[in-house]
Amino acid sequence: MATRQRKANAMSTSTSASKKPQGLQNPLGAPRRARLPLSRSQRWLAAGEDSAQPALPVFFTQSVIKTIALHAASDMDNEVGGWLAGRWCRDGRAGKEFVVVEALLPAQQVRSGSTFLTFTHDSQVAMLSALEEQYENKCVVGWYHTHPRMGIFLSGYDTWLHDHFFPQPWQVALVVEPHTRQAGLFMRKDGELSPRRYSGFYELHSSSMDSVVDWANLRPEPQPKPAAAAAQPPASPKPQPSRAEISDTRPVEVKTVTATPAARKPQADAARKPEAKPQAESKPRVEVKPPAHPKAETKSQAETKTPAQPPVAHDPQTENKQ
Ligand SMILES: [Zn+2]
Repeated sequence: MATRQRKANAMSTSTSASKKPQGLQNPLGAPRRARLPLSRSQRWLAAGEDSAQPALPVFFTQSVIKTIALHAASDMDNEVGGWLAGRWCRDGRAGKEFVVVEALLPAQQVRSGSTFLTFTHDSQVAMLSALEEQYENKCVVGWYHTHPRMGIFLSGYDTWLHDHFFPQPWQVALVVEPHTRQAGLFMRKDGELSPRRYSGFYELHSSSMDSVVDWANLRPEPQPKPAAAAAQPPASPKPQPSRAEISDTRPVEVKTVTATPAARKPQADAARKPEAKPQAESKPRVEVKPPAHPKAETKSQAETKTPAQPPVAHDPQTENKQ
């Protein structure tokens, strides 16, 4: 969720905070031409989601998936979040648009609590600067935030924020619940955003096909059985990855997180994914560093907690005072 926040220019869910930074406007007139990287991907399905190809396939690189999980687990009590950066593409042969999430811009100068998150103006400026300086060939393809102990949905404010700051049909919202280790992706279908209906996504593998997804509510898409595809050649092997599909698949685009693996436990549902990675326990020691930006030193007066570098503010009281 996110909360009403009355400070001007803050990217919160307040109806009074409506000024958008320039960089959030869609800088692109058309999607990039690229091939759908299906051969190097594993699709993850949400409950009730069938195997029909989604209207907008969304691919997350493994480094992004891991970093989101670390950021989500860095604060199990308060919401955290940020922007998703990547590419908006179109596969002309498949006649499909798709999105590849390749980098994270964690919000630092936020105001947050157990049920709200506000991207302050300073945090937006820092994220925009990072986007321009470090990811100049990427655009903001959406945002993510956590819902500690709340489940996967979009609140009314979340929906407002998405509509106002991420209005493009291909911009998405990811919600993560760090306690139950769940995640869901929200995207528009025929222009409509359902706040309760989320989907899975495609995990874009970097080298091996070992998965890094450890969200308990998602399941890997089953491989088609030969009997179900009698008209097709038997046991067609999965095609080899083609480097021409996506020109830029550098495995690590996120430069913001240094994490010490904390106590880990085996995944509860081991049968779901035999090679599943252990899941980080609560309160891992995770430090999310902001993008280098001189303005990151500038804090709003409302920010009362500044745990070392970088400045990160979590001040639930602020919301109530305003
Ligand atoms: Zn929310």
